[in-house]
Amino acid sequence: MSKNDDFVNKNYYCRICNNTHEIKLRKNLAEKQSKFPFSYSFLHGELKNILTTLYLDDELEVRGVDVQQLRDDDLFSKGQVVSISSTLMEEIERLRTENEKLQKELNKLKKRKSN
Ligand SMILES: [Zn+2]
Repeated sequence: MSKNDDFVNKNYYCRICNNTHEIKLRKNLAEKQSKFPFSYSFLHGELKNILTTLYLDDELEVRGVDVQQLRDDDLFSKGQVVSISSTLMEEIERLRTENEKLQKELNKLKKRKSN
């Protein structure tokens, strides 16, 4: 099983970059939601200064996109902070799992070499 099986790639159009971006979403993301569409916020852009909110339905289809370029003096609302933090936690968890898998693979290779 490939390590990408738990994720699905979706595209959204960003009017600030005037471009279509791709994002990796955990497949079970919708399971934790109680109402649809739900919002999913993160930062993107070269300077990570574009606040992005995607509105996703229960099939993780993008129903709406809200992008906002942040300036230095912009403050986040509490809801935005909570939303961005939970997205980052997801990402950290994903990287942790990936790292664990790679470590196991590496150990296997090491063993094979020493035999
Ligand atoms: Zn963009």
